[in-house]
Amino acid sequence: MRSRFKVWPDVRQLCFRKGLLYGFVRFFSTPLKSLHRTASRSLRVGRFCSVVNMSSSLQIELVPCLRDNYAYLLHDMDTGTVGVVDPSEAVPVIDALSRKNRNLTYILNTHHHHGHTGGNSELKARYGAKVIGSGSDKERIPDIDIYLNDGDKWMFAGHEVHIMDTPGHTRGHISFYFPGSGAIFTGDTLFSLSCGKLFEGSPEQMLSSLRKIMSLPDNTSIYCGHEYTLSNLKFALSIEPGNKQLQSYATHVAYLRNKGLPTIPTTLKTEKACNPFLRTSSAEIRQSLNIAATTDDAKTLDVIRQAKDNF
Ligand SMILES: [Zn+2]
Repeated sequence: MRSRFKVWPDVRQLCFRKGLLYGFVRFFSTPLKSLHRTASRSLRVGRFCSVVNMSSSLQIELVPCLRDNYAYLLHDMDTGTVGVVDPSEAVPVIDALSRKNRNLTYILNTHHHHGHTGGNSELKARYGAKVIGSGSDKERIPDIDIYLNDGDKWMFAGHEVHIMDTPGHTRGHISFYFPGSGAIFTGDTLFSLSCGKLFEGSPEQMLSSLRKIMSLPDNTSIYCGHEYTLSNLKFALSIEPGNKQLQSYATHVAYLRNKGLPTIPTTLKTEKACNPFLRTSSAEIRQSLNIAATTDDAKTLDVIRQAKDNF
């Protein structure tokens, strides 16, 4: 049976550009060869399997780190500007940059945990990159230079980046949303088929953070901090075995992991259909965990979280 889930995000993403006006200017000023290059994608499987997703002129390259962490290299093809999201360690990032002879201008951190900031100091010292993180967590993010807060719009080489407070896992957790590319970096707030553990926040905060992310377009690509999908899948299937879309996604996830490929990015559409933490109103999940129909969504999320913690 052919899986209904595609390996790649929707091709429509290719149509997004930094901005409509900019797109027009570029269309009339860019050689055909360059336009063709912009509309291509590639997949590489090397020592570290690595995905390059080109949407608009922003390339996103996945860099596996530690055991199951992902850092992401952001490369603006127009200016050559490079950023990295959540470098848990420096060496794999340096290797990825060296392979293409690239410099590093920005380090973006979703939250302060070492598995997301461990490479900050070494990368900053080597490249002189600026570290960007939540203003409310400036005491805990190593070597931070630029403080951003909820609702701020920051520019990465001409790409607008919306800063979204997404607390729950930690109190200072933020997500970076690139509307022009339809991509969001969710750190440890939203994973494929799960959400982060509630270390410093309440179920209400996590629910509110997840709802913020759910308000984005369904075709938004979600780049999270860890490759946890296969183990998350086992839990999700245990509490919602009748979910046909989850069964189909399970086939797709197993296929990718058997080939050593990442399951990231996922899409918001897939997560809404399959992720139990975005499905607190599912009758089957509530029945599986003995949650009454009258129980509110925050309490339901709390019960699902506790069940997963003990799974
Ligand atoms: Zn974390």
